[in-house]
Amino acid sequence: MDLSGEWKYKTTIKRMYGLTENQIKTAIRMGLVEAKEVRNPYYSSGPPAVLLKVSDVEANLSKIKSLPKYSEEEKARRKLYRERSRLRDELEFYCPRCGKRIRAMRGSEMFEACFEGEVSKEEARRVLMIAHYRHEHTDYDAKRRALKEKRYKLYRRLREDGYDYETAWMIVDDEIPDVTEELKKTYNKKAVELLKEDGLL
Ligand SMILES: [Zn+2]
Repeated sequence: MDLSGEWKYKTTIKRMYGLTENQIKTAIRMGLVEAKEVRNPYYSSGPPAVLLKVSDVEANLSKIKSLPKYSEEEKARRKLYRERSRLRDELEFYCPRCGKRIRAMRGSEMFEACFEGEVSKEEARRVLMIAHYRHEHTDYDAKRRALKEKRYKLYRRLREDGYDYETAWMIVDDEIPDVTEELKKTYNKKAVELLKEDGLL
């Protein structure tokens, strides 16, 4: 391997010449560009970084640019992302209280159920709107947090008094029952009222 000449990180080359990962990988496989692996400059335990020989890239640039931009796997992944993004767009709604459009959060179960076709778009949007209003425009989060803190405080006190873990939580459940589900129901109702006031439901 000829180690002379200028070498640059693959990420830099991509940016400089407007090349994709697949074009570079293919060019390396075809022997158009010489590459070498070095220790990752950001995390030593991370995957090795790839250096490319700049003169090879420049000499074969038009050929590399004519290589397919994406592998079949990448194409499938991009298609999936586009479909997910389109559904997120479709489920988006304008919240007059926030003054902005609200998108389904990452990891939203309702979004996933809708993407899998288990729930209609109308139903998913309705549930997402209620959840947004419950979290952002009612006292639900504050009430839930306060309940959790109250329960935990009692638990700590019981432990300090010498109760074991199981008994302590048993007493907590008796004295300050975990009513999160009831809170959710109550505040869902409030959220629906507010949504109706705002003309969204
Ligand atoms: Zn809002």
